[in-house]
Amino acid sequence: MPDILSLTGLNKSFGAHKVLDEVGLTMKPGEIVGLLGPNGSGKSTMLNGISGFLPLDGGTVEMNGQDITGMAPHEVVAAGLSRTFQLPSIPERMTVRDVLQSGDARNGRASDMLKSLDADDLVETLLHEFRLPHVAAQPASALSGGQKKLLSVATALRREPQLLCLDEPTAGVHPEVRHEMIGILKKFNERGVSLLVVEHDMLFIRNLCTRCVVLDRGKLIADCPPPEELEHNPAVVAAYLGKSVEKGKVAR
Ligand code: ADP
Ligand code: MG
Repeated sequence: MPDILSLTGLNKSFGAHKVLDEVGLTMKPGEIVGLLGPNGSGKSTMLNGISGFLPLDGGTVEMNGQDITGMAPHEVVAAGLSRTFQLPSIPERMTVRDVLQSGDARNGRASDMLKSLDADDLVETLLHEFRLPHVAAQPASALSGGQKKLLSVATALRREPQLLCLDEPTAGVHPEVRHEMIGILKKFNERGVSLLVVEHDMLFIRNLCTRCVVLDRGKLIADCPPPEELEHNPAVVAAYLGKSVEKGKVAR
């Protein structure tokens, strides 16, 4: 089976500032990989580059052996990759159900389990599993911050990705919702969705990810399973300037 994601030599600079420096990564189908790194290390830039939201200066992005480098965001979605943003922008006047409906991107490349549901069923399934049925008819503006994060992840899943990339899905979210999010993501992973997740919360990473990669100033400096190997990796500890990566939150 080809790798679900294969990145080679990704480079990106903003002016003289090199933000991605020869980044390479391969993910096997079904993997859940945590993408870590201090603030400003290039995590969001990397997700923007692979999902078509930002042109890269160099490197290749492949999904399932298909070269998707330089494709527009909607073409990347059609190839099977969807993503959320660090700061979700949700059309506030649409109802929660309509926001979810709008995520439709039937593309024939969905994971088998998701594909077995028809479009309306998938919306109802997502509402149910993200615990949003009671607010489905309300405008998205009525949602709490945590519910908006849940809705943004649900909407990305509505695109039936094979690979879901999440940018800090639980930042600013109540611990209870964070816990729910872990359960939901595990369930979709069992249904065949691979996950690449930017996250700072160690408990979240420990409970969800089987493997972590760490960016520091645009370079990948570690690739190991959490938590022990990560916490004792000298390059990772140095990247976080000696701040503890053990006690709850990873320092930013
Ligand atoms: P992270 O998500 O790891 O916190 P980012 O990828 O957002 O980091 O940013 C990496 C670096 O690139 C930061 O120094 C940031 O200021 C810079 N950067 C990101 N986007 C832009 C942009 N559009 N123009 C100029 N600099 C940018
Ligand atoms: Mg970021």
